[in-house]
This record gives sequence, structure tokens and C-alpha cells, in this order.
Amino acid sequence: MRTFEEDMKLAVAYHGHLCSGQCIGVKMAHYAMSLLGLDNESEETKMKVFVECDRCPADSIGIATGCRIGRRSYSFYDYGIIAASFLDMNTGKAVRIYHKKRIHPEDGEDMIAFYKNLPFEELLSYRNVKIELKPCDLAGPPVEDINCEQCGENVIDSRHVVKNGKKLCRTCAEGGYYSFL
Ligand SMILES: [Zn+2]
Ligand SMILES: [Zn+2]
Repeated sequence: MRTFEEDMKLAVAYHGHLCSGQCIGVKMAHYAMSLLGLDNESEETKMKVFVECDRCPADSIGIATGCRIGRRSYSFYDYGIIAASFLDMNTGKAVRIYHKKRIHPEDGEDMIAFYKNLPFEELLSYRNVKIELKPCDLAGPPVEDINCEQCGENVIDSRHVVKNGKKLCRTCAEGGYYSFL
């Protein structure tokens, strides 16, 4: 298992700066792995994370767990909550960890040492949760492949919507984050 300092070094290099969010994300990942009995240096460890914010901890959670969005081992939910669930893909056990309260080092205090020595329970809470993955959520070849009946774009992995009997991409069905000029 990599140490807190080792994962912080990797997280800061990836994220681009040292911040409390990097520390909190690594702390969340290490808490989850200790609860699930997993090791981020073991080949046996197969995890999937479900991250509920797009702030700083979102990067360090990925680094400390090795979970990546392009490998389908990292799902992002735009809930605005500093929380994440960690699923052990071998056993099906999962924990959801959330940031309980803001605790900051004193001015001038070493941030990494502060968070390293902070007991998990003071910063974080967890609940055991159940997460059921569908075949369309797993790595491997796409399980479904359709073309949107409105715009014609290809939609994979059952992410389309059926509306008025038509198979549509989400943007055509529900409106998207962009509009055409
Ligand atoms: Zn940051
Ligand atoms: Zn469409």
C-alpha cells in the first residue's frame, strides 16, 4: 500500500497544486481501502469509484485508487457533494465515504503532515452501501449500439432515452449542455 505521502506526491503532480482537496481525496480513498481491505499497489485490487463532485478531491481519489474514467472504473455524478463510493469489484462490497466537516491546519502548519495524522473518523464518515452494476456499466465491448432517431449520432452502452417510442440521444430528448449557434 502506498503511503499517504506517496499518494499525495502523485496527486499533486497530476492535479497541479497542493491543496486541502488533494489531501481530503487521498484520505477518502485510503479510508475506503482500509475498510474494504484493499491495497492500491496490489494487482488483485479491482475497484470502481463513484465520485459526487468535480472539485479538487475528484482528482486525488482517482490517483489514489488508480480508477480512471476511460477504463470505466471511475463514474462521476454531478451532485455537488464531497463524497464518493468505493466498490470492490471482486467481492461486491462497497462503502460510501463523505466529508463530515471542514478541518484545516493552522497557518504555517505542514498540510500533508496535518492530514496524514488526522484520524479518518474526525474528517470523514462512511456507510456500507450496495451498488449494482449493469452489463452496460462494465468494461469491455459496448453492449448496445444505436443511432439517435433525431440527430443520427451513435449512442453506445444503453445511454439513449426512449421518448414517444423513439430512441434518442440525451441531448435530443432532454436538452443538453450546449446549443448550436
Ligand atoms: Zn486543488
Ligand atoms: Zn440526438
